[in-house]
This record gives sequence, C-alpha cells and structure tokens, in this order.
Amino acid sequence: MIDIHCHILPGVDDGAKNENVSLAMAKQAVSEGITQIVATPHHRNRHWDNPRYSVLKKVNDLNHLFVQHQINLTVLPGQETRIFGEMADSSVEEELVTVNDNGKYILIEFPSQHVPRYAKQLFYDLQVKGITPIIVHPERNQEIFEHPEILYSFITDGALSQVTAASLIGKNGKKVKKRTFQFIENNLTHLVASDAHNVTERPFYIQKALIVLKKEFGSEVLQLFKENSALLVNGDLVQREEPSEIKDRKFWGIF
Ligand code: FE
Repeated sequence: MIDIHCHILPGVDDGAKNENVSLAMAKQAVSEGITQIVATPHHRNRHWDNPRYSVLKKVNDLNHLFVQHQINLTVLPGQETRIFGEMADSSVEEELVTVNDNGKYILIEFPSQHVPRYAKQLFYDLQVKGITPIIVHPERNQEIFEHPEILYSFITDGALSQVTAASLIGKNGKKVKKRTFQFIENNLTHLVASDAHNVTERPFYIQKALIVLKKEFGSEVLQLFKENSALLVNGDLVQREEPSEIKDRKFWGIF
C-alpha cells in the first residue's frame, strides 16, 4: 500500500516533532503494510511554509535515516498546499511540490470552514497546466459536508478527492463517517490516505480503514483505491467512475 498523505517529515509542521517520531511513524507504517509514503508537509498554512527545495532535501535526509535504521519504507516528496489565489501562477511554480514531484497531481487543502469562491477557476487554471487538483479530506470541510453538491461540481470538473482513513473508521464522528461512505458510494472520492501526524493521537489507521472499505464496499473498491495510490505516484491516470450527487441534502449541522 502507498500512503499518499502523511506528515512524517520531522520538525516542519504539526506532524512528526523530531526524527524519533518520524522513525516511530515509519515503523507503524511498515507494520500496516505501507511500503511507500508521500511526505506532505503543510505549505502556506498559517505559519507553516515548506517550499519545494526544502521538501526535496528533507525527504532525501529522511530516506537516509530510514536506511540507517534498516526501515523498509521509501519516502516520496509531496506537499499539502493550503489553497491560495496565485497557486496557478508561474511565479509560484518553484515553491509547490506535486505528488512525487512528477508535475501531475497536487494535494490541496481548503480552509476547514469554507470553500473559497475562486477555487473553481483556480482548479481550471491548474488543469490547463496539466496539474490535477486533489481535494484532501473533503469530509472534514464544513461547507462541503453541509453542501456535498460542491464536491460533486469539483469532481465533474476534473478534480480528484482523498478521504482520510480516520474518517472511514469513525474517528471523526459518526456523521463524518456517513458522509465519507456517501462520497465513496457516489464516486466522489478516489483515494484513501492516513494523513498521519504521529503514532498516538493521529496515527495511520490504514489497516482498519482497508478492512472497513472491503467490508462495506467489497474487494473491487478496495483494490481500486489501492491501485489509485500507485497510479498517482507514478503520474498515471487515476481510475474514476461516473460521479453522482448525494441524494440526502438535509442540513446536518454538526459543526
Ligand atoms: Fe494533512
């Protein structure tokens, strides 16, 4: 299994505090069957900035550390970029890290409460440049949670989305779990990842999430999600089924 969203780089954001935590996270990842992991530090998120040159160097250092400690886990470069208006401008290309630095996909985080109105045009502009935006944990965004048709619109416009393992197993509450299930049922999401920050409060939960995926949606869906992570890091086309709108539009109001 390839984990495409994880805060395993030491000392760069609210993820691993230091190398010891990174090592502990790596061991947990391996124990859950993860062989490759995309390091996705926050960028442009409040006070965290992790531009490309810095991510590439730190990924390199972490791979050396894992070799030294005989940990069989490969770290690939990535970034969780907080959406900003100039994201598609050529002036910021140097600071962004696409998934595995292959120029095809980028993880994008919305503010937790809402979706900026410029996102639609920005996603279009990114796709014109050949970069497909991946909306991370849409189930944890208040506006999308309350109005899932917003996600439907992004997906039909060509974006992808990634749900979090913790949401699938109910760690973010029953209602978020239900929404996450609905996103899967309606082909509104294509990837599952850990978004792990440490080994205690926000661990991987990947094995548990895969068990839930198989139990609720069958081994074909499980396989699809696993394959999509591999396609993503290879820069190949991710598999998508025709999306549909979620029927229940009732206001849930959990936030
Ligand atoms: Fe994250």
